[in-house]
Amino acid sequence: MMSTPENAAPLIAHWIDGAERASTSGRTSPVFNPATGAVLAHVGLADQADVDEAIASAQRGFEVWSAYSIAKRQTVMFAFRELLNARKGELAAIITAEHGKVLSDAMGEILRGQEVVELATGFPHLLKGAFSENASTGIDVYSLKQPLGVVGIISPFNFPVMVPMWFFPIAIAAGNAVVLKPSEKDPTAALWMARLWQEAGLPDGVFTVLQGDKVAVDGLLNSPVVQSISFVGSTPIAQYIYETASRSGKRVQALGGAKNHMLVLPDADLDLVADQAVNAGFGAAGERCMAISVVLAVEPVADALIGKIQDRIATLRIGNGAGMDGVEPDMGPLISAAHREKVASYVDMAEADGATIVVDGRACTVEGHEDGFFFGPTLIDDLPTTSRAYTEEIFGPVLSVIRVASYDEGLALINSGEFGNGTAIFTNDGGAARRFQHEVQVGMIGINVPIPVPVAYHSFGGWKKSLFGDAKAYGVHGFDFFSREKAITSRWLDPALHGGINLGFPQNN
Ligand code: NAD
Repeated sequence: MMSTPENAAPLIAHWIDGAERASTSGRTSPVFNPATGAVLAHVGLADQADVDEAIASAQRGFEVWSAYSIAKRQTVMFAFRELLNARKGELAAIITAEHGKVLSDAMGEILRGQEVVELATGFPHLLKGAFSENASTGIDVYSLKQPLGVVGIISPFNFPVMVPMWFFPIAIAAGNAVVLKPSEKDPTAALWMARLWQEAGLPDGVFTVLQGDKVAVDGLLNSPVVQSISFVGSTPIAQYIYETASRSGKRVQALGGAKNHMLVLPDADLDLVADQAVNAGFGAAGERCMAISVVLAVEPVADALIGKIQDRIATLRIGNGAGMDGVEPDMGPLISAAHREKVASYVDMAEADGATIVVDGRACTVEGHEDGFFFGPTLIDDLPTTSRAYTEEIFGPVLSVIRVASYDEGLALINSGEFGNGTAIFTNDGGAARRFQHEVQVGMIGINVPIPVPVAYHSFGGWKKSLFGDAKAYGVHGFDFFSREKAITSRWLDPALHGGINLGFPQNN
């Protein structure tokens, strides 16, 4: 962070060429502590000159890094993993200060990101090419996996560490140079990670942080140097990113929004369901792309389930995620005052459309934190499926129950939506669960598991408008995305078996 004389709050800079670099644009955006409403800092937003400088530095970094041997690259990867493990408490505090989620949840996000770092340390095995000896007589065929070059990562506010870590450990391990454009709402974690890479021995320019908004994003999308874009954010922007970047031939993976349903069959354990619906609906104040937003209760369980969820909501403590009087609350604030208004507007819409507001979080305030962006857990019953509160992503602590008559009615509702990120079924019937995993049009499915974020060695990604592009994040998809394959057909002549001249098309023999 840098201080400017005319501005008391610190100025958050880019990270270019292994050092902080102030934006030259003069444009800034405030960074809040959402629990107090205080402005912590201002982040400098890139202009095209900053973008050009960042990309040029990354290209130089790529030329150095891609020439490192596998063994040398692996040493840096392990060093980063060790430093992260030792110092992750500092990073969790940064997340909570700028995002608002409770500290243990911030640590949880780091641990899920760290899984990908650990997967990436095994890159030599995952980036081995294949070799077919004597594919044709005297001819061998083999493949090489090479890095792409400079790759762009554009991330959302809700996981300032985990989402970038879905991509950059694998990108860097594979020999690429990364330009990360974090969310302007919580930009400091990216700088912290840049310093850690430097300490781990990564050459300057291989991990660049470009702070900014649409100008920075468009600069990455339009650069002929940038080879690929990995984006996570809302669906309209994901679609824009996909269309713009793919038009110029870039590789793109653009993960979008979600509306995740939990289907509860009548044979389910309702206490387990109520616990998990509360965890998945209100954890991180509902600002998770895998949050459960809708509970589809197959009758006759709805009344009993709503009662159990209501009882649990009554026990939730809302407050400053950094702790209040030495105690960590269950739920922190939303990211901004504007987002709180947006979430409230969806509850207003549900009410106007005839739903019952069973628990209303709109008037939530926290003593001593009156300027914080708090929104209480909200439970809605009988939400009409025509309401925009049902069809659109709310991204807040709002859980809606819809009563359905059968498994088929519930499944049809899930499959009729425009998103396909995550879903869950709760039942004790293995046959029903098996049918569900086959029939549901969603990319990530939980069976008695409410937030089925796959482990690092599987891949993360939804269907439909939750993912534009063919490659999911991390796992085998990640290694494929961040490497380019060459197939080589080679003949080293055996002096005893010279084939002579033959103008025909090459045959396998
Ligand atoms: P967002 O789409 O507003 O912003 C995401 C990124 O795009 C940010 O870096 C932002 O600066 C940039 N951006 C914003 N407007 C832009 C524009 N007009 N042109 C170019 N770039 C622009 O998303 P957000 O509010 O930061 O994050 C919440 C959203 O992210 C939710 O919709 C959530 O579901 C989604 N999300 C999805 C996943 C997933 O895996 N599918 C994971 C996390 C978050």
